[in-house]
Amino acid sequence: MKKINIAIDGPSGVGKSSISNRLANRNHMIHLDTGAMYRCVALASLRNQISLENEKALLDLLDSINISFDKEKVFLNGEDVTLAIKENNISNFTSKVATLPIVREKMVALQQKATSAKNFIVDGRDIGTTVLPNAEVKIFLTASAKARAERRYNEYLEKGIESDYETIYQDIVARDYQDSHRKISPLKKAEDAIEIDTSDLSIDEVEEVVQDMIDKAL
Ligand code: C5P
Repeated sequence: MKKINIAIDGPSGVGKSSISNRLANRNHMIHLDTGAMYRCVALASLRNQISLENEKALLDLLDSINISFDKEKVFLNGEDVTLAIKENNISNFTSKVATLPIVREKMVALQQKATSAKNFIVDGRDIGTTVLPNAEVKIFLTASAKARAERRYNEYLEKGIESDYETIYQDIVARDYQDSHRKISPLKKAEDAIEIDTSDLSIDEVEEVVQDMIDKAL
């Protein structure tokens, strides 16, 4: 069977992780959630009280941390941090940490090494442009900020987590701005990526559109 890599990029809350998980299971591929890697760096720097201005301390931290995945769980130096890295304060801090060149350099190198044997579905912001410019399938998912905020709000509601729609909406708009305006590897559609606007599509429908593209590439 031919081995390929798939790049899935797009803004916060567009459903990259859910789609990537489904497709990875369906096609016997491995899902690499690069957002989780940046979140781990943010969590580790907060816990170790590393100032983002202190390059030396940050480099030491980057050399000392080990990020691993097991199914849908994320481990930082062996500790299960799946829930900890999803907290709101970490989400906002991650966008700042992800602007730093030394952090991006290290993460991109790790991601390229991990996926070199192919058979990966990699989701993030710069996968099609920087991490895997030669990926066999490149997707850029979009949805209006309103649609993404509504989805997240409903997700919290279903899980019984108290939340405020307006705060969620403002967080999404702020992260979009931060992610698309940073100097290095901003959130951007690769020229050869296929854009899918998911505002009015269900997750099943998005899955089928991408699956068609995978079938053609295989
Ligand atoms: O995808 P997720 O929302 O978990 O990503 C968290 C943050 O990590 C993003 O808001 C973005 O700032 C950063 N990120 C990035 N490049 C990636 C993946 C995530 O800069 N490839």
